[in-house]
Amino acid sequence: MGAGAGEGGHVMSLEVRGAGKAFGTLEVLRELELSVRPGEFAAVIGPSGSGKSTLFNLISGLDTPTSGEILVDGAPASVASGKVAYMPQKDLLFPWRTVLDNTALGLEAQGVRKKEARRRAGELFEAFGLDGFQSSYPFQLSGGMRQRAALLRTVVLERPVLLLDEPFGALDSLTRTEMQLWLADMWQRYRWTVVLVTHDIREAVLLADTVHVLSPRPATVVERVEVPRSGPRGLDALAEPEFAA
Ligand code: ADP
Ligand code: MG
Repeated sequence: MGAGAGEGGHVMSLEVRGAGKAFGTLEVLRELELSVRPGEFAAVIGPSGSGKSTLFNLISGLDTPTSGEILVDGAPASVASGKVAYMPQKDLLFPWRTVLDNTALGLEAQGVRKKEARRRAGELFEAFGLDGFQSSYPFQLSGGMRQRAALLRTVVLERPVLLLDEPFGALDSLTRTEMQLWLADMWQRYRWTVVLVTHDIREAVLLADTVHVLSPRPATVVERVEVPRSGPRGLDALAEPEFAA
């Protein structure tokens, strides 16, 4: 991949300050505080329906909070949306487009020429276990492969802030572990600021610097845990003595 946030790019902080969100009478978020340092890997855990996807819609600038503010690198999220790459919970691959076209779409939407977009997306197919499926259509892929294609389409944007909404939910445990290691590796290389929503506490502890636990609706952060870290994460961790032994 080309320049990530860490290769001369700008590493960005994320600040959710007292964010509230209601849909009519349904109060989803209340006074939510979430602070992510530049280059930090944060995991968000919370009950189903607590408002995790709603929170991501606010951070990505797709929706606006009812109260409070959300700052990406110090700017309101609505203005900073070009700095945020967001993989929504549902894979939104277009059924009538090939897998390669689907993965290049995000780049094309930000003005990269079609040929160049396809080349950059295509470079990642092997790492994502999608080699040979460039010309396939989404219905010809397994659920896990569609999820990986959606993740590929997001990370290829190389934006400084990466929001991942249960990106590995549909994967079998082997593929899940592979993708977790791959993500840890990419994070160490590019120093994206990552927020990962997951139901898997082990995944959170394996990958994240901080784990933020949400209450049931209306959601607020009820606990923030710093994960003690020593040594590398991801593929490098496998070279550590405890694994090598
Ligand atoms: P989670 O991702 O934690 O499972 P969501 O953020 O998807 O939760 O949803 C939180 C609550 O907000 C749910 O009760 C959901 O039905 C509701 N909700 C989400 N988006 C909308 C919307 N656009 N309009 C009305 N209600 C919504
Ligand atoms: Mg959700």
